[in-house]
Amino acid sequence: MFEKIVIANRGEIALRILRACRELGVKVVAVHSEADRDLKHVRLADESVCIGPAASLDSYLNIPSLISAAEVTDAVAIHPGYGFLSENADFAERVEESGFIFIGPRPETIRMMGDKITAIEAMKASGVPCVPGSDGPIDDDDKKTIRLAREIGYPIIVKAAGGGGGRGMRVVHSEATLLNAISLTKAEAAAAFGNDTLYMEKFLENPRHVEFQVLADEHGQAIHLAERDCSMQRRHQKVVEEAPAPGITAEQRQRIGERCAEACRKIGYRGAGTFEFLFENDEFYFIEMNTRVQVEHPVTEMITGVDIVKEQLRIAAGEKLSYTQNDIRINGHAIECRLNAEDPKNFMPSPGAITQYHPAGGPGIRVETHIYNGYYVPPYYDSMIGKLIAHGETRESALARMRAALGEMVIDGIKTNIPLQLDIISDAGFAAGGVNIHYLEKKLGL
Ligand code: ADP
Repeated sequence: MFEKIVIANRGEIALRILRACRELGVKVVAVHSEADRDLKHVRLADESVCIGPAASLDSYLNIPSLISAAEVTDAVAIHPGYGFLSENADFAERVEESGFIFIGPRPETIRMMGDKITAIEAMKASGVPCVPGSDGPIDDDDKKTIRLAREIGYPIIVKAAGGGGGRGMRVVHSEATLLNAISLTKAEAAAAFGNDTLYMEKFLENPRHVEFQVLADEHGQAIHLAERDCSMQRRHQKVVEEAPAPGITAEQRQRIGERCAEACRKIGYRGAGTFEFLFENDEFYFIEMNTRVQVEHPVTEMITGVDIVKEQLRIAAGEKLSYTQNDIRINGHAIECRLNAEDPKNFMPSPGAITQYHPAGGPGIRVETHIYNGYYVPPYYDSMIGKLIAHGETRESALARMRAALGEMVIDGIKTNIPLQLDIISDAGFAAGGVNIHYLEKKLGL
């Protein structure tokens, strides 16, 4: 195992990684911006390095600063967490060229999965079901593009190969607007991602978001840890996640999970990863792969007992997976509510000092947060300040525990989305299970 690693992130995930390191006896170097000196994991770390001013571009996204932090502290590896540089192939490459281990997949793998066209090609080659589409980039032959779109069938969605964060896509309902939509999306994609390559897919009108967690080691072993449902979204941002996904059968889980694991073996995947699918009319359609740990990984940990972050560290250190597929059993149900420092009605960020903090507790309750009494939530970063996770033997008991825990949670001094989360958890449609990705926005009247 590593002697010492750098955690190139902040907030709750940095604390989560620090805890995994403690268990494995790995020393931790925390890096932080000038605005983040008081982060909980910075206080708990063995060493800390200030890597720049508050703005992410000058600190958490500053590759030379991060590499020097590893150099001056004699660390051997870097964990990128999620967001920031976690899916940046150039960063992974620089880390490895500088003689450190990147706790994640190989840079080539990140690059391949970051381009949605090459990602889809790799998936198809392993029998992972994909959305019917253009099977490659759209070229300058307009007649061919029009014919392809007709074959796919309207509505279609035009997507940027290099897109991300829900940007660089446009829905087209009829042939009359197709070419115009393509040229607009092309210009946007060039400006936003420096890559104007586009492709087309069938637009699924009312899908659910169902994703599979995988783990793969450098010795050719890969397993899946079942699926999560993350359909409760606002502006493509997940708000509530759960595992397993309501209504997914053991046969579907095994069939799709095994295809994902097979894709990992085929591309020589290393580490933790997520295959995201849209799920409609009982069919799965791959949309993209995330090559990092996800915000919602705890719900999978709660139902499988696997510590995904410890596995990431072990895999990066060259160890074999601690589990085979047969070891993985689903135990009960888990739900996660993201806790955001924001107005629960208009979603405006609400930074500021936390005057009172009392976490919820009790059987099956897990709280992942870096906040504490007197902590100041800075205005510079994502508004997520933590996650509340409830596990129960059944979905009903997980829901009941979540409802009680949300009611118990005290975070004073700033506004939080706890009232919205209570409303969602008490919603009859959500309680029934299996709502689609438009449900929350409709409920909110958006
Ligand atoms: P990003 O990398 O920007 O997150 P994704 O490919 O994951 O892009 O798509 C983001 C979201 O856009 C999906 O979660 C889904 O809501 C919507 N979307 C993408 N492709 C389709 C599709 N073919 N049909 C319907 N919705 C889609």
